[in-house]
Amino acid sequence: MEKHINKHLLGWYKNNKRDLPWRRLQANKLPNPYYIFVSEYMLQQTTVPTVKKRFEEFIKKWPNIKKLSLISESKILNFWVGLGYYTRARNLLKAAKLIQKNYRGRIPENFEDLINLPGIGDYTAKAILGIAFNQAFIPLDANIERIISRIFAYQLPIIKIKKQLEKKSIKFISKKYSSQLIQAFMDYGSLICTPRNPKCKICLFNMNCKSYSKNLQNQIPVKNKKISKKLLKFSRAYIFNNEKNEILIRKRPSKGMLASMFEVPNDVWVNNKKDLIKDKLILNIKNKIVSKGLVKYSFTHFDLETEVFIINVKKNKFLNYRWIKQTKITKSGLPTLMKKIVAVAI
Ligand code: SF4
Repeated sequence: MEKHINKHLLGWYKNNKRDLPWRRLQANKLPNPYYIFVSEYMLQQTTVPTVKKRFEEFIKKWPNIKKLSLISESKILNFWVGLGYYTRARNLLKAAKLIQKNYRGRIPENFEDLINLPGIGDYTAKAILGIAFNQAFIPLDANIERIISRIFAYQLPIIKIKKQLEKKSIKFISKKYSSQLIQAFMDYGSLICTPRNPKCKICLFNMNCKSYSKNLQNQIPVKNKKISKKLLKFSRAYIFNNEKNEILIRKRPSKGMLASMFEVPNDVWVNNKKDLIKDKLILNIKNKIVSKGLVKYSFTHFDLETEVFIINVKKNKFLNYRWIKQTKITKSGLPTLMKKIVAVAI
């Protein structure tokens, strides 16, 4: 059955594959390993349409490992604004520097070397080896997990059937067409065997699908009922606005959330509103402080509620601080959260 499904998938892929910039084929009929390497970092936690545009910009700036390995962390963090999850950017740069140093700029072609690079786990290593080097792996992304769990009609949440899926997926591995097959699975999951309302009537292997035969395709994968409530944190942010319509910014600490990124002054984020402690910069301010409203921002593991204040100040009272023109905020390297905070105030 697996061979039969693979055959259908490969045939379908030829005419229906998504046009994604990191997939362009080289003379060896495989994608550029550097492109796959970069795209896999970007695709962790970010959707394909968002990555598509940013990937092209990235490659224009840093077309190969060597060019990327020479830049500073602040450069890549600046670029990463809007993509979120900045640890990925840091890891991507660290990995590029290691590849340049230890592998003369060539993406490693074996699992052990890849998995030892920062930010590369089991899935990413398999995706790079399978897609870029046509090695016999199958990386279980959400699309592939969904298709396999539906074919076998597993009526448990994905998190509980990881081992079974892994075992079943091995039977689908192709030695000859691994790269195309992995991408075919991914595209089929995103276009035909979609999360909601899969197009089972036109599915090329609906005869082999247990979910379809039991009319369970809309219930599988089973949702994990235990949805824990997200933690809510609190902060206050202060927009120091000077007579030249510039606002004061500073660098965040090198560890923790949004590490080393620029920010507007804000209080340390706390779990309990009453534990908020005013930022040092605001302590001796005599100027009028005006509340401008709330910003709610969602991180992976918690939401942050920030009350935003504006204070009109004279620039010469804040020597040794960095200022940014209000008109330059949108294109600045401020993280999205900070841009939202500024937008509420001005
Ligand atoms: S029949 Fe439907 S649920 Fe089954 S694999 Fe095809 S699209 Fe997915």
